[in-house]
Amino acid sequence: MAYFAIGVDLGGTNLRIAAVSERGEILEIITTSTEVGRGRDYVIDEMTASIQKLAEKHKDKGALSGVGIGVPGIIDMSTGMLRESPNLPGWSDYPVREEIERRLGSRVILENDANAAALGEFWLGAGKGMSDLCMLTLGTGVGGGLILNGTVWHGMTGMAGELGHITVDRDGPPCGCGSRGCVEQYASATAVKRMALEKVGERHAPELAKVMERDKEITAKHVFQLAMAGDPAAVEIFRTVGEALGVVLAGFINALNLPMYVVGGGVSAGWEAFAPRMFEVVRKRSFVYAATMPEKNRKGTIIAKAELGGDAGILGSARLPMLAQRGS
Ligand SMILES: [Zn+2]
Repeated sequence: MAYFAIGVDLGGTNLRIAAVSERGEILEIITTSTEVGRGRDYVIDEMTASIQKLAEKHKDKGALSGVGIGVPGIIDMSTGMLRESPNLPGWSDYPVREEIERRLGSRVILENDANAAALGEFWLGAGKGMSDLCMLTLGTGVGGGLILNGTVWHGMTGMAGELGHITVDRDGPPCGCGSRGCVEQYASATAVKRMALEKVGERHAPELAKVMERDKEITAKHVFQLAMAGDPAAVEIFRTVGEALGVVLAGFINALNLPMYVVGGGVSAGWEAFAPRMFEVVRKRSFVYAATMPEKNRKGTIIAKAELGGDAGILGSARLPMLAQRGS
């Protein structure tokens, strides 16, 4: 019998809810701005109402497998509680899964948003047809996800895959996680912006200073456009992004020897500006990569740009109850 699922992408600014067919088609998507400021209960009310609406409207597409919700932050899979989520104040140590299940009366699976995005790319994007995949999502922060043998690798409690907090420089800038010099401090949109402002402050970046003057802010997109136009300060920033990614990817490749590593999220739009340096560093620092360079007639290690854009998370979230249904 045909089936479908509901995927939810609960971000710090947007709440997106989609009905997704078993083949991965988005049947309908509802986007609202998450009014986080109105509190957890308000957001949960709004979310459950939209889920119910979609479930009712698409019931002719088959049975509802369940609901998958991608949330920013670390989740304890055994209790279905968020342990830490800087973007969702007031949600920590609250039985999110239980509460939503109670209201909906159907299976609910919570997953870290970056893990969900990795599963989405694995199912329908860059990793389609692969056996395993490791993904980095370069957004406001840097998220990570590991798909091993077709399923999300959770580790002991569900917190595995925090790849954005792997150290690149032990004396680097302090990170929100409590450590320093994490890859998030070099390859996130926030980091690109910070590095640009530092260069403007040091008077090393006349073109970036002009952007600041004109737009009153600098975004990763501005820096990318300048880098592509050859501005030395912007080129250097994206070189730093590529270098940090190269260092951590080399480590992942040596540790895991997976067939594919995917780089996604908003900053991955700057692929052309950071990828050359990233590949250069990976080649130098990972002997496993060097030994598995893709060649004719032989499988190799592939490092690729994500393909699903902003839909990776919601598609991966919808996939979760489908996989659980198969397993049970
Ligand atoms: Zn960190």
